[in-house]
Amino acid sequence: MNILVFAPHPDDELLGIGGTLLKKLKSKKTIVFLSSGEKGQTNETNSKLKITRQNEAKSVCQKLNATPIFLNLPDREISKTKNIIDQIGKIILDIKPKTIYLPHSNENDLDHKKTNELVKDSLNFVKRKQKIPLILEYEIWTPLTEINFIENIDKQIDKKIELMQLYKSQTTLKINDAIIALNQYRGLTTGKGNFCEVFKVAWYEK
Ligand SMILES: [Zn+2]
Repeated sequence: MNILVFAPHPDDELLGIGGTLLKKLKSKKTIVFLSSGEKGQTNETNSKLKITRQNEAKSVCQKLNATPIFLNLPDREISKTKNIIDQIGKIILDIKPKTIYLPHSNENDLDHKKTNELVKDSLNFVKRKQKIPLILEYEIWTPLTEINFIENIDKQIDKKIELMQLYKSQTTLKINDAIIALNQYRGLTTGKGNFCEVFKVAWYEK
């Protein structure tokens, strides 16, 4: 299976769908990081933090058996331009994924929301040229309210927690604990396991 993931910042892919990606360890995977999160909370300067976070993302990608692509868009200022929409479209056409993962449209974080819009705009023209069987929206900061696809990650949760530590510049945030709690909540409320990651199907083609 050929999987393409869009992450607004390094760590969104792991927080949102780390367990799912670990389940598909042997599949071909590409993760597109739109920004490099250079404005994330640390004492480092933006240019230094950009390199730090890209290196952290590369380490995580290695463990996930995924290839990273960095678009280097400005952190906290991801905006919609034709150039970026074309660039994303070309990546999709080039990779020919069977499944695409993108943040859902109701994320409160503006970069996350913009990522959803950029990928969807790209898909408008890509879908005319290429068949994409499954497109799934994932949750990061803002829990999804409509869920129709669930991955049980009971066997992957320990590894997911371990990989979170590779994003060393971000471990001061309480986000890791919150995400584990969210995965547990998803397990309990869907009845599909102890820990789950949930999705909204944006597109499904037989
Ligand atoms: Zn983010």
